[in-house]
Amino acid sequence: MLFQNTLSYAQELDNDDPLRKFRDKFYFPKLDGKKVIYFTGNSLGLQPKNSQEYVDEIMEDWRNLAVEGHFYAKKPWWDYHERLAKPLAKIVGAKPKEISVMNTLTVNLHLLMVSFYRPNQKRYKILCEEKAFPSDQYMLQSQVRFHGFDPKDAIVEVGKRAGEHQWHTEDIIEKIKELGDELALVLIGGVNYYNGQVFDMKSITAAGKSVGAKVGWDLAHAAGNIELKLHDWDLDFAAWCSYKYMNSGPGNASGVFIHENHLAQDKITRFEGWWGTKKESRFLMKKEFEPIATADAWQLSNPPVLALAPYLASLTLFEEVGMSALIQKRDKIVSYLEFILHEIDKEVESSFEIITPPERGCQLSVLLHGEGRSLFDYLMANGVITDWREPNVIRLAPAPFYCSYTDMYNFGQILKRGIRAKNNKA
Ligand SMILES: *Cc1c(COP(=O)(O)O)cnc(C)c1O
Repeated sequence: MLFQNTLSYAQELDNDDPLRKFRDKFYFPKLDGKKVIYFTGNSLGLQPKNSQEYVDEIMEDWRNLAVEGHFYAKKPWWDYHERLAKPLAKIVGAKPKEISVMNTLTVNLHLLMVSFYRPNQKRYKILCEEKAFPSDQYMLQSQVRFHGFDPKDAIVEVGKRAGEHQWHTEDIIEKIKELGDELALVLIGGVNYYNGQVFDMKSITAAGKSVGAKVGWDLAHAAGNIELKLHDWDLDFAAWCSYKYMNSGPGNASGVFIHENHLAQDKITRFEGWWGTKKESRFLMKKEFEPIATADAWQLSNPPVLALAPYLASLTLFEEVGMSALIQKRDKIVSYLEFILHEIDKEVESSFEIITPPERGCQLSVLLHGEGRSLFDYLMANGVITDWREPNVIRLAPAPFYCSYTDMYNFGQILKRGIRAKNNKA
């Protein structure tokens, strides 16, 4: 596609954008009365305007019905979470029974490791990517220690090649084969939070399973961003947070996927609570736990409906737009952003480099050479919300739900002024 770095061209792209109307379904922070250019939908998605109504409904039912709301609210609370499974199943490529919504991401990964990391003296190693998201590193280390192993020995990280910014699938698969019957678990972030790389989940999952390991994925940056086929790819499990590309609100509930093959098994190791037992007998308050035949068997507590409400509201927008349309616009707007970056790079003295490989979703990570922090501060002061990752990376994620092509053009102009201001000072 031949793009142009002009305002009128960007406006033309917006006019032709089939997702155009969705921009108005979200609240934007404003600077001097103007919507900011929001690049951090990979960190905290914007608030969908319909979320208030979903929260208000619960507040009202609680006010008027109190305990009766569990069964008689407009959307009864006791099985409120089940409403999220179907739309989520479509987004991540799963069967609804393979999905549950509960707790938060790191908590869920711990709970899933209780079931899927069952080390013994021979098979106890975990393979992950080098410099995984810190929470994942802490989780893996503490799990390994909990089982009496040494993280230095048990956790094997696959690194990038010297001088490169991305991982190679063949390096990961080679390492899996090398570890062979010592490998208990593969657990990687499906889309890397730092460089925006999308991993080949299908091939890596198949490789892990071929040596007898379990394979799980952290989909924090993948859910609602890239095409997923969790069931067909035969993952054992996955989990994601909902507040990034899924726009559910700060710190909100996590989704989990547990493959059908692991459902309705009595022998599985699992931490259990009353919301995982069969609904028909739950209130008989019996001693025996009878697992629900879905991923809900992993649910411990009754659902936090006030948190689930905005998540459900957001999922109605995903239903309306459909992942394939979202992905189509994502590819186009990210390519346009990439084009703009290269154009600006030509106009000013080269001062940055895109480190995101071609296997990408919504995010471009830009490595700034020289004094990057001041450029970041300039962008923030001028209505561009982006984020900063040490030592010198700015991550740009133009979420296709609500970002416009005009945003990309305007960003380029602000970036150009920012680089010139920086160079003049130097
Ligand atoms: C955002 C993110 C998390 C956040 O975990 P919480 O438990 O929701 O705080 C974890 N892992 C990855 C890879 C992330 O990107």
